[in-house]
Amino acid sequence: MRIVLLGPPGAGKGTQCKRIVERYKTAHLSSGDILRQERAEGSELGEKARSYMDSGALVPDAIIIEMMVKAIAKCGEKGFLLDGFPRTVVQAEELDRALERIGAGIDLVLNLQVPDEMVARRLTGRRSCPKCGAVYHIETMPPKTDEICDNDGAELVQRPDDRTEVVQNRLKTYHDQTAPLIDYYGRKGLVHDVDGSRSADEVSNLIFERLDALCCC
Ligand code: AMP
Repeated sequence: MRIVLLGPPGAGKGTQCKRIVERYKTAHLSSGDILRQERAEGSELGEKARSYMDSGALVPDAIIIEMMVKAIAKCGEKGFLLDGFPRTVVQAEELDRALERIGAGIDLVLNLQVPDEMVARRLTGRRSCPKCGAVYHIETMPPKTDEICDNDGAELVQRPDDRTEVVQNRLKTYHDQTAPLIDYYGRKGLVHDVDGSRSADEVSNLIFERLDALCCC
């Protein structure tokens, strides 16, 4: 399976990806996670990406395309689930070209739909544990003690790009640069819309229904 997961920041892509990977044993390639890993390692690529990420802007296409085409090549025949990539039409075109070279193509694009107000509430309330990676939400999934991780007592942190002003930029970036991909893939008949405003379990069931059908064809 070669799947693209589209949707605004905060649509629940990360949560759904974990569940999809568990069920279908496909490789999960998150461009945001790869960039954060590069930053944590202090690599040149991570340093180049830092200022764009912290302001809610997109990292330049050339950097992202090279990084993701390399990651995809490592997946071989197994297939992949793309999360956060492509994010511009240029990236999608380059991805198509890279796949064409190996005689492959995208099988399905899952488009998680969530209204902007819900995205903003979800992201600005998100906190995570710097030690174990557990993710909380101050309103909907708070830790037992304010701002402290239930698992290891570490103080929770907010991603710099989840601050209110940055979230507004990320949403604008999404509408201006990423939403056009819905049309791009729509013209190829690949888009399946999913109501991302429902509970995580309901969203997973909607996705599994579609992916089960894809696996069986
Ligand atoms: P995410 O965790 O997917 O929201 O990504 C965090 C940040 O990484 C984004 O706000 C961008 O600055 C950068 N980023 C991730 N994926 C891409 C991409 N495909 N193209 C450009 N920038 C990206």
